Amino acid sequence: MHTISPLRLAPATQVLAPSATLMMNELVAKRRAAGRETIHLGFGEATFPLHPLLHTALTRATRHTGYAPVAGLPALRRAIAEYLARTRALTYSFDQVIVGPGSKPLLYALLHILAGDLLLPVPSWVSYAPQAKLAGRRVIGVQTDPNDCHRLTPQALSQALTKARRDGVDPAILLVNTPSNPTGSMFDRSDAEAIALWARDAGITLISDEIYAELAHGWREHISPAHFYPEGTIVTGGISKAFSAGGWRLGYAALPPGEGGAQAIAALRAFASEAWSAAATPIQEAAIVAFTPNSEIELYVQRSARIHGYATRLLYETLVNLGVACPGPAGAFYLYPDFSPWRPALMERGISTSEELAYYLLEEWDIATLPGTVFGERPETLRLRLATSMLYSPEGVDSADEREAVLWRLLALADTLSLTGSLGGPVLPLPGLERAQARLTEFIQALGSASNPLL
Ligand code: PMP
Repeated sequence: MHTISPLRLAPATQVLAPSATLMMNELVAKRRAAGRETIHLGFGEATFPLHPLLHTALTRATRHTGYAPVAGLPALRRAIAEYLARTRALTYSFDQVIVGPGSKPLLYALLHILAGDLLLPVPSWVSYAPQAKLAGRRVIGVQTDPNDCHRLTPQALSQALTKARRDGVDPAILLVNTPSNPTGSMFDRSDAEAIALWARDAGITLISDEIYAELAHGWREHISPAHFYPEGTIVTGGISKAFSAGGWRLGYAALPPGEGGAQAIAALRAFASEAWSAAATPIQEAAIVAFTPNSEIELYVQRSARIHGYATRLLYETLVNLGVACPGPAGAFYLYPDFSPWRPALMERGISTSEELAYYLLEEWDIATLPGTVFGERPETLRLRLATSMLYSPEGVDSADEREAVLWRLLALADTLSLTGSLGGPVLPLPGLERAQARLTEFIQALGSASNPLL
């Protein structure tokens, strides 16, 4: 007898696969549980201990079990507006800010409430394209030049727009991310200005994902494109990266002033009210502390950024010394090396795509990475994203307290590091990082000498 499943899936699910980053994290956890040591460069989670002031604030707020207002606690929205003024010279009133359970759902909501299709630089963060597709939007990739650190240029944007229009697609949104996941690059002032002015000229809404803004390594200033196009730019951010509190699920979006911004906030609030109601009240209470001026917390964030800068720079130098092309890291905790000079050697091992390379590295070398394809690259590019943030975990410690104590000592050492973007000076005790350097070196040396130029 032919039976129809009572669980039929909607066509939209065809674009769905679990997020590659979360999948890789689970795969590594399984391997480790099975006793297979794995160098975890596959997941970008900030892993420093929670700042005690946030911990105290959360403990005090746990009895606040009522729903918060849909757009967030007014005191938190105000604290975020003041924080953006203080740290990024961006001017917002509290009612231009909306808070949600992470910036990811806010980005998803934005892709629903804004009209039109999406221009997306290649490479860019894994979730943007699936979110846009779930929202019924088409995604138009904007190529970046690997020989120019994957810089996004007005020329490439114009080309993508012209081609899209020729194909009958009329993109109305551009989503950018600085510092960038996956490349670790940042816009300099002229990039931010050029992209913002391009969007303004083209009449395109700009979403600027600035979740890593605080994690600029210290030698390049974070510049928001919103400075140059305040009436058309939406800035998103949160506490997941700078405050190492991803699991708290708290993010924000700051919208332009005026009638357009007010209508967009109203639409976002309506979306939020039907989708998640509000971010958790105690988490919002505690997050107020993160965004309120406090020299201890500011020092904590600055130290985290320096450690991320140190670790990515060290791994970067290892790769570059072995002949791997890779954009120099300026912010966040990512590297985006290109293994195409080893294409023939990899072909001999049956590897011709970034996915095959990532799989091979995991199976044969116990190194977890993410393939370029999940960032929108063509399959045959041989780029991988390496995240350094899981390498700080101390080894041989038995308790969470001991682990935190080691990480606090590491953070204190950050003050001894130079801010120039080059190494020199003290060597920090990071055995996980040393092992990653050694294993990648072995792997690259085993491939033999590099042979062909970049694709
Ligand atoms: N944007 C980028 C570029 C990210 O890397 C992440 C987290 N990996 C997010 C947004 C989402 O962050 P959250 O939802 O935790 O605020």
